[in-house]
Amino acid sequence: KPVILWFRRDLRLQDNPALNHAAETGRPILPVFILDEGHGRPTGAASRWWLDKSLRALDGALRDRGGHLVFRRGDSLGELQQLIRETGADAVFMNRLFEPDAFDKDADIAHALKADGVDCHGFNGALLCRPGGVLNGAGQPYKVFTPFLKALLAQAEPPGHILGPRRIETPKAASEALDDWGLHPTKPDWSEGFDWSPGEAGALDMLTDFLSKGLKSYAEGRDHPDRPGTSRLSPHLHWGEISPWRAVTQARDAALDGHVPAAEAEKFIAELGWREFSAHLLRHFPYMTERAFRPEYDAMPWRHAPAALEAWKRGRTGYPLVDAGMRQLWTTGWMHNRVRMVVASFLVKHLLIDWREGEAWFWDTLVDADLGNNVQNWQWIAGSGADASPWFRIFNPVAQSQKFDARGGYVRRWVPELARLPDKWLRAPWTAPQDILRDAGVRLGHDYPRPIVDHDEARARALGALKAVSGRG
Ligand code: FAD
Repeated sequence: KPVILWFRRDLRLQDNPALNHAAETGRPILPVFILDEGHGRPTGAASRWWLDKSLRALDGALRDRGGHLVFRRGDSLGELQQLIRETGADAVFMNRLFEPDAFDKDADIAHALKADGVDCHGFNGALLCRPGGVLNGAGQPYKVFTPFLKALLAQAEPPGHILGPRRIETPKAASEALDDWGLHPTKPDWSEGFDWSPGEAGALDMLTDFLSKGLKSYAEGRDHPDRPGTSRLSPHLHWGEISPWRAVTQARDAALDGHVPAAEAEKFIAELGWREFSAHLLRHFPYMTERAFRPEYDAMPWRHAPAALEAWKRGRTGYPLVDAGMRQLWTTGWMHNRVRMVVASFLVKHLLIDWREGEAWFWDTLVDADLGNNVQNWQWIAGSGADASPWFRIFNPVAQSQKFDARGGYVRRWVPELARLPDKWLRAPWTAPQDILRDAGVRLGHDYPRPIVDHDEARARALGALKAVSGRG
């Protein structure tokens, strides 16, 4: 009898606990991916684009080992039961999803399969430590990052590196064609601006490249959007094309070998710790996908401002760094973390638009869109999250641009209509004299918008809005 290997967001063959345990049974393995669109949040457009490519890569890797991926579409439980009937399989192996809805649904599926006499074996292949596994001395969830990270690193044990079985022969089962799923959106093609390579091989290449280049000066380099200073592993991690342990152990090894200073590796591991912290918060406080983690922040007097929201989405706010970030997002499905913070702060504080609007746009357009990370980071910026940046800390997009994009390379790349402006006026073109604008070929209000809000006025309005939040201001 075969066993079913149910792939979800663990699209890899190495370091895959569900696959390893399935292989240990010595039975034929039936790898399946089920497109189940009837539950939870619909997958965003950029994520669908990534998923399509990643599934092709996984199928190719399975074919190299003698098998293939079975594609099914519909209700997960119904499809699993159908496959069990078709093939006589009597066990299902899977790596768990930890978002609250998915977690509960998995429990229902395991329960229903058990009633049919089929065992469901769930593993953690997504996180260094399963959410709920790190609690403070009083048995309560941490709400502050630093002690959480300390406890996480003290208790999480690295599993050994496993290459996975050399041969995976797939028993016969009906499969749909991936081409029929229409996962490919019409616009944009997120590989226009970056050479993304979805799938496990692409993830491992990305890590190797980062370890030899960006890691040695990560702590400083990670803040400069004009440099390739970060790993760009986020979509690969989200889709489980690489185990987070692989990234941690290889960064640690690079430090032990003396290739990189230990502090740089630690900083990188701490960022992976934020990913853990996000998943952990979501597990314990599931309401934070919809509501402020600190309930008093739901009293914020958000503005209904559709034109401003649209200008933000399209990169036409008149603030070059904000616009550069939003256009990088639209073109590549990714945005540098420093710029994510600036554009998010601009939306919620300068425009006083609800963070949920921004979170939804990121959800649709990021190739690394991740419920825990996205919600946690938006609430961090909006001051409403656990261990959040305070509301009164309002990024000045002009100063941020001067500090982190000092030579202007990032703005010039993504806002090419300003490329010929001298550095002095690149961050705030509305301050440039007419002759400078003319020489640079910029007609403000035509080629490039004037600022949609004045920084000082917007700042004052944002600080005033805090008064609505009880007990503050
Ligand atoms: P690196 O600097 O190389 O970091 C390594 C890994 O650590 C990342 O791949 C990511 O998995 C994790 N990480 C780094 N920073 C953070 C962080 N602040 N929070 C959580 N994990 C982190 N990240 C997502 O993966 N999905 C999202 O939907 C998402 N939404 C965000 C929304 C906002 C408003 C902000 C400010 C940040 C968001 N981030 C999100 C976090 C962060 O910007 C990205 O993880 C990071 O830019 C990815 O690039 P990288 O892989 O090169 O990061």
